[in-house]
Amino acid sequence: MKKHKNIPIFIPHLGCPNDCVFCNQRTISGTREFDISSVRPQIDRALSTIDGEQTEVQLAFFGGSFTGIDRADMLYLLGVGKEYIDRGKVASIRLSTRPDYISPEILDILKEHGVRSVELGIQSMSDRVLSACGRGHTAGQSRAACALIKEYGFELVGQMMTSLPFSSPEDDRNTAREICEMGADGARIYPTMTFRGTAMEGMMERGVYTPPSLEESVSIAADVFEIFVSRGVEVIRIGLAESDGLHADDGIVGGAYHPAMGELVVSEYYRRLIARKITGAADKTAGKRAVVYCSPGETSKVIGQNRNNKNFFNNEYNVKIEKVIEKKEILRYNCEIDIL
Ligand code: SF4
Repeated sequence: MKKHKNIPIFIPHLGCPNDCVFCNQRTISGTREFDISSVRPQIDRALSTIDGEQTEVQLAFFGGSFTGIDRADMLYLLGVGKEYIDRGKVASIRLSTRPDYISPEILDILKEHGVRSVELGIQSMSDRVLSACGRGHTAGQSRAACALIKEYGFELVGQMMTSLPFSSPEDDRNTAREICEMGADGARIYPTMTFRGTAMEGMMERGVYTPPSLEESVSIAADVFEIFVSRGVEVIRIGLAESDGLHADDGIVGGAYHPAMGELVVSEYYRRLIARKITGAADKTAGKRAVVYCSPGETSKVIGQNRNNKNFFNNEYNVKIEKVIEKKEILRYNCEIDIL
């Protein structure tokens, strides 16, 4: 099977009339200026580093509300993408946009230009939270957009944020459940971070918003991750990273930034999974040793950063995880446990 690779092209805040409290798009995208003529060289540069025989390449217009930008720019960029598709250099296009910038007319244009995947910035399915965040669309608009995207046969990725102002953990879990119910093929989970110069920074200063600690962020992200995993929705990203254009000097003034956020969240998920298995056999486990079996490539997440999970089971359950063994028969995000 071919590997999948995105060529990300960041399009910062082009044409976006909204002012989400968390957004400083120039900060998030890391792209201070956008020169549309730089797109072809960017694609060529990226392609020169990719083995096209072994890789399925998607051109990815990220960073803004792609279908809301100036129409001529959007058509130009889609035209560039289509040209690379027709030359066999790129398999398809993916893009991110807002629910209120989806319509049959837009989706017709995207279909004609070889777009396969639409990532939708849903953020929350609570109207109260959306309104407090100045998001400018409702949960109903997200439902309608998802239904239309699926009807047209696009791959749908739901992007959500956790711990937004006025959002409870139950609101976040409910957003994840609804994203699954709306037919998402994939999801991105973004624990909220507060950037300098955003309205959310002002909310923090006025005491209207308290950003989550790292521990809280990991815990709620693990809750929603579990919901996606249990419903077979692939989580393709947890947390902003350098590959999203985030720079070290971008001025994060609140919230939990961790360079390995995804790893922390998945480790927390495994900790809960193993804990349930141990609890299920409680009378037989105390003082015992255990071997955990997981799917290939998952050992470090099962053990946890700095052996956190191993230590946790030692201290809290009096169970010594002696070995973690990868088995290809075990499905990703599952594990088995042998008490010795
Ligand atoms: S819609 Fe997107 S780009 Fe526009 S303000 Fe909100 S987060 Fe920023």
